[in-house]
Amino acid sequence: MNKIEVMPDNLINKIAAGEVVDRPFSIVKELVENSIDAGSDNIMIIIKDGGKSLIEIIDDGIGMDEDDLILSFERHATSKVRSFNDLEHIGTMGFRGEALPSIASVSIVEASSKLKGSEDGHIIKINGGVISDVKPVPMQKSTSIRIKSLFYNLPARRKFLKEPAKEYRFIYSYFKKVAVSRPDIGFTFINDDRTVFQLKKESLSERICNIFREVEDESLIEINSSLMGYNIKGYIGKKEISRKSKDNQYLFVNNRIVENKMISYAVYQSYKNLIEPGYYPFFILFIDMPPEKVDVNVHPSKMEIKFHEEGTVRSLVKDAVFNTLSGQGSLVSYRFDENKNLENSSIHSGNAKFINKAFDNLPKTEDPIVERVVQDSLFEDKIDNLLYKINSPENSMETAEVNEAGRDANKISEREKFMRPSTKGVDILKFGKDSVVTENVWQFQNKYIFIELDSGMAIIDQHVAQERIFFEQAMNCFKNVKLDSQVLLFPVKVELSLEDKEVVDAIRDHLIQIGFMISEFGGNTFIIEGTPLKVKVGEEKQELLDILDYYKNYREKKMGVNEAVAASYACKKAIKAGQSLTKDEMLSLINDLFLCEFPHVCPHGRPVIINMSVKELDKRFGRT
Ligand code: ADP
Ligand code: MG
Repeated sequence: MNKIEVMPDNLINKIAAGEVVDRPFSIVKELVENSIDAGSDNIMIIIKDGGKSLIEIIDDGIGMDEDDLILSFERHATSKVRSFNDLEHIGTMGFRGEALPSIASVSIVEASSKLKGSEDGHIIKINGGVISDVKPVPMQKSTSIRIKSLFYNLPARRKFLKEPAKEYRFIYSYFKKVAVSRPDIGFTFINDDRTVFQLKKESLSERICNIFREVEDESLIEINSSLMGYNIKGYIGKKEISRKSKDNQYLFVNNRIVENKMISYAVYQSYKNLIEPGYYPFFILFIDMPPEKVDVNVHPSKMEIKFHEEGTVRSLVKDAVFNTLSGQGSLVSYRFDENKNLENSSIHSGNAKFINKAFDNLPKTEDPIVERVVQDSLFEDKIDNLLYKINSPENSMETAEVNEAGRDANKISEREKFMRPSTKGVDILKFGKDSVVTENVWQFQNKYIFIELDSGMAIIDQHVAQERIFFEQAMNCFKNVKLDSQVLLFPVKVELSLEDKEVVDAIRDHLIQIGFMISEFGGNTFIIEGTPLKVKVGEEKQELLDILDYYKNYREKKMGVNEAVAASYACKKAIKAGQSLTKDEMLSLINDLFLCEFPHVCPHGRPVIINMSVKELDKRFGRT
């Protein structure tokens, strides 16, 4: 009964596969990393059905002879670690010797390889972890690993795989990252017989532009900063290429793709007075650092990472990004009084040197930069305080003459957007049982509207109210007539990323219904010939990209296509909090809201109206 037995290898591998191989993307990742470790100059990735029926990786690396090829599928067989000491200085992507046996235990594998320079290779077949066949074979490339029928022997796991399009998206997103991390390697990516990317060895900036087809070289700023054993390099984006989503942010630590919220946040902080809230900067950052100061193998398939010196890394990244941006003059729109110190800096004249001003106020040491890192929290407070002052509403009108004209233009158009004609008189409002003539409306904090009712009062959140209005408008237009478009005098050509192109392909009819006029130009390029009403000239592309980003976000939340497009449209179009409204504007908003079918909740489920009855007020004031 209670007898302990050592598990057979094949069972161990299957269990390990649960960790290493959770979906086709993780197999692609393991195999591509092996090809990189093998010193390949070119790597080809071929998948079918999102990797469910086929994943094949072909490379021209060092290759394997017959013995190594067989051995590579043994558990803990690796050419990368020989001693415990090696573990501290891993220069390769893999080292556990787990990937190939784990993958082979849950799929049908055909692997062929030859040593680089030779012509004679060998091919082996492995079925559910059992090697069945070894044969010589002539070969051109060094190594090819073909994975067929993933999880064919684990039906429960196979059932858990998503539909091919979704699995493809995981692989696609990984592909972009690995291709950016190694511009010195040529990559080809073929999905269902279609070439998605064909990339020659090139410079990092060329690679970035080829991967992010909507990004141009001029929008990238190079970053390069070395301090305290950390080198931070790569590219950050000018504000024009910030997006509503966080998709265009890659972080590599010692060339390994990782995710780390702390680093992303450090970057946002440096950008936070530069780009509008709700937008995220473009960045591709490579941090090279002593490997012993970071734990990478927190989990074999996850890309999380733990820095031993978190605070230091955070400050270094923040400083590097900040200094690069201010060096570029990108921050020039915010002005400072150089004659006053930070604590009471009122924001008038001066220039981007303000950041140096911030440093000046910190205690001095031999090495001011090192001191800056050590004094991180002090520095952080000062900058935050400074940025708060810049961003706070009382100051905002005084800053940046350069932007003043633009800001006014903005105002006018927000107002115009708001003042669209309403179909019903504005004087009578219905609030459930209440019906009241409303002279008494007030705006509070440029955010909420207070309305006096017979029975008490109602408070409306102006932003979510408009979201609800535009949401229903869009939902209606999918059933009935399309919304009006403004036709562009000069159509705008936009090159989209593959992902965005696929979204446009999928929701083109919907985009047309909400007012876009889009035609195909070939490849990933589209022509915008018209937009929904009130989109400003020059902002057509951004309008489309924002809606696509919102849409992708909603799609993740499993909304239907109609709902997701309508919510994206509404989100983009609704007035933001912070906009002051005239009485007429308030009344027209309230009126439109009550023409909605569901005026009480916004598309995200947030409340639009809060009621407070006289009874309740009386009770609270003890007036019983
Ligand atoms: P690890 O990468 O952790 O060593 P794997 O199971 O992924 O473990 O691979 C086992 C071994 O097989 C590697 O250490 C390497 O020697 C060899 N190998 C795997 N893929 C390739 C390849 N594409 N080219 C050459 N050798 C390879
Ligand atoms: Mg490996």
